[in-house]
Amino acid sequence: MFENSQKLFIESQRFIPGGVNSPVRAFRAVGGTPIFFKEGRGAYLWDADGNRYIDFVGSWGPAILGHAHAEVVRAVQERAAKGLSFGAPTELELVMAERLCSLLPSLEQVRLVSSGTEATMSALRLARGFTGRSKIIKFEGCYHGHGDALLVKAGSGALTFGNPSSAGVPPEVAAHTLVLTYNDGDELEKTFKAVGNEIACVIIEPVAGNMNFVLPSTQYMRLLRDLCTRHGVVLIFDEVMTGFRVGLGGAQEHFGITPDLTTLGKVIGGGMPVGAFGGRRDIMAHLAPLGGVYQAGTLSGNPVAVAAGLKTLELISQPGFFDRLAKTTGSLTHGLVAAAKSCGVPFSAASLGGMFGLFFAEEVPGNFAAVMTADRDRFNRFFHAMLKRGIYLAPSAFEAGFVSAAHSDADIAATINAATATFSEIT
Ligand SMILES: *Cc1c(COP(=O)(O)O)cnc(C)c1O
Repeated sequence: MFENSQKLFIESQRFIPGGVNSPVRAFRAVGGTPIFFKEGRGAYLWDADGNRYIDFVGSWGPAILGHAHAEVVRAVQERAAKGLSFGAPTELELVMAERLCSLLPSLEQVRLVSSGTEATMSALRLARGFTGRSKIIKFEGCYHGHGDALLVKAGSGALTFGNPSSAGVPPEVAAHTLVLTYNDGDELEKTFKAVGNEIACVIIEPVAGNMNFVLPSTQYMRLLRDLCTRHGVVLIFDEVMTGFRVGLGGAQEHFGITPDLTTLGKVIGGGMPVGAFGGRRDIMAHLAPLGGVYQAGTLSGNPVAVAAGLKTLELISQPGFFDRLAKTTGSLTHGLVAAAKSCGVPFSAASLGGMFGLFFAEEVPGNFAAVMTADRDRFNRFFHAMLKRGIYLAPSAFEAGFVSAAHSDADIAATINAATATFSEIT
């Protein structure tokens, strides 16, 4: 059923390293060959062999309205007809910046970029320029794009400065990155006590979506905010995934915590390349041309991409949008948990807004080590069996899933039916 995808993958490997332009797409984690898609509409994707799938990846988050939403497509077409890029200011960027600042009250100013990676790299440089400090803290299992300083994962406990998790990252660069355990308040307090005044910033996914789906406790987030304030450390919420996804006000609204800087991407481009970083005016004032921290982009604020993002933000701002989305997502996770239970498969699931996590483990994990204890082999069998039944899940046990406004109750019911059949096969 995947012959055309298989042919395209073989051919792609001749010209593109690994056949893909982003590694997870290669299906290495789950085995098999990746599906090549040719069309998306609403909650559905069609592949190169004409198979239809209910899509729970949504381009890794941006497709919150479903694929090819008529109004977003029209906004792009109308804007494109007037010129694709000017490399000069446009009124649309002002409208976008105002919209972002009004939806996220922690943003006093914001700058647009073209990807989440650019947003986090820029926010990091800004935090270092603002504080005059070099060291940063990130958390094991959190992903912040592929900037050098952030491609560092597991330190073995507090005060162990990181080793790069990619070749090509100089150890001297990684040496400034301290990696802590997500959700561990004691370790956080100890670390701040020891080196708090040397830290430029803490960057965190306020709901982790790149080690599957892990929710921190509100108490932990409050402690983090408090420690950063006391030590003059810039708190960066990386909301590239959670922004306009877990709710209209992002994870910061959910926890009631105001970060100093926020990074955005994914949903704010509505499927086009848009990222952003913003926050406190006194920090943002250190950016060129006002201040000494350099940051730039030929296509930053690109009018066509911004048009897609603005239309998306307008549509998801309608009253009740996130209540409905959260309800749909919750009905999916509840249905899956019940189905697994009826088949005797150890399984748990969680969600917030339009984002969810599935685990082949009795309990929902609270950090990376706990995520690692879930049964990955069983996930991989589940993934492939669901794929054959027309359900497209993220091809890795370390990714969150996404529901869009286009997913109907019938789509959710069909997914739960497929899962029930699958669970009974993989006991
Ligand atoms: C996706 C993601 C990024 C990177 O964004 P890109 O647009 O892929 O560069 C950064 N941080 C988080 C939390 C993400 O989910």
